[in-house]
Amino acid sequence: MSIILETIIVNTIFLLFPLAIYLVYIAYIRNMDLEEKTIFFDLAIFSSIYFIIRYGVDFDYIIPLVLLNIPLLICYLKKNNLSAVILSFICVIYCHNMLGISHIILLLEYFVYFIVYNFIIHRHLTPPYIISYFVLIKAFVISLEVNIFIKPTVNPVHNAIYVFAILLIFTMISYLILYFLQKGEEIMDLNATINELEKEKRVRASLFKITHEIKNPIAVCKGYLDMMDYNDGETVRRYTKIVKDEIGRTLILMDDFLSCTKVKIEKEEVDLYLLLEEIGDALQPLFRKNKIATCIEVPDEELYVMLDYNRMKQVIVNVLKNAIEAKKNEGKNKIWIEIEEEKEKVVIFIRDNGIGMDSNTLKKVDEMFYTTKEKGTGLGVSLSKEIVELHGGAMKYYSTLGKGTTVAISLPLA
Ligand code: ADP
Ligand code: MG
Repeated sequence: MSIILETIIVNTIFLLFPLAIYLVYIAYIRNMDLEEKTIFFDLAIFSSIYFIIRYGVDFDYIIPLVLLNIPLLICYLKKNNLSAVILSFICVIYCHNMLGISHIILLLEYFVYFIVYNFIIHRHLTPPYIISYFVLIKAFVISLEVNIFIKPTVNPVHNAIYVFAILLIFTMISYLILYFLQKGEEIMDLNATINELEKEKRVRASLFKITHEIKNPIAVCKGYLDMMDYNDGETVRRYTKIVKDEIGRTLILMDDFLSCTKVKIEKEEVDLYLLLEEIGDALQPLFRKNKIATCIEVPDEELYVMLDYNRMKQVIVNVLKNAIEAKKNEGKNKIWIEIEEEKEKVVIFIRDNGIGMDSNTLKKVDEMFYTTKEKGTGLGVSLSKEIVELHGGAMKYYSTLGKGTTVAISLPLA
């Protein structure tokens, strides 16, 4: 009895091990939202077969009569017809060699499984049905096989008990593995659902925020329009300007939001130093207007990086605009850019000696819609960060309140 148990347990472990690895793979795939490849299922199934044939311990023909059929059953459960056919041939060859049963009978047996699965069970494909059909066919075939080929000399009553035991083991292990696979997939589905929920929560939160952001300026506009005294030319002019500003701000917000929702990058070879110089030149009027001294320390050479030119420009401009907006009202304001070239990456430091951030702002700086500015949108940093990350890089903020801020943008060198 203990030999039978040992045989069953050891072989079941061989069977389950590749399937367990397959479940880990599935968990990874579903978590990362990647496409599932059936080849890994096939690999697991054929490894199972290989392990039991190569290393399995056999007792009274348990392997060919019971265990070899289980991967086949799983193939049918997972609706994988091609692997099932290949496995059927493996079973036929192995059973013929082990048990001496004629090829014709074996081929017939596995052909019947194939036919029954494809033409009869197809209509009600729940796993317990599939298992019970298999067991029914197996019961019939195995009774013949045992009495004719395997133990022709043994008393038919003993053979009946033997057949019954084999079927019992077959059914039990099948259900065990089915349970294992189903539980595994249930847990993963649950996990996927939780991820979906989290995503939806974030979308809802941003929708709520957008509505809020748009509602505010519109309410302001309405307030001014209500108060407007059309006979008083002065207030009409003043209020119209405010209403225009508010509408302008809303439009900017919506533009920002639109570009936020569809970030896509197309990389090309770009001379990073040239790009920085170009941006510096383009923003000179803005620096001058704000009385900010700039220093862009870019080496006088070329550094080619794979970038989305326009997107990266957007990032640098965003960061520089924030630096300008952080200027202090007294003292000399400065913004400077430094480059550090390392082995595998290049880091662009954009520093300002502006108002800086407290720890709370620093923590939330890359949050969508987080802004401390009266007319801010709070989308600049989050969008920039996303773009840099899409390039395989990283964007980090270092800041001291009252002293200034440093933004470090690192980009991988291909
Ligand atoms: P916005 O500029 O519209 O407020 P951002 O996403 O660009 O939105 O920035 C978010 C917040 O991060 C800003 O409101 C500001 O408080 C802070 N911040 C960003 N850059 C700087 C900086 N260089 N100095 C100080 N604060 C900054
Ligand atoms: Mg900004």
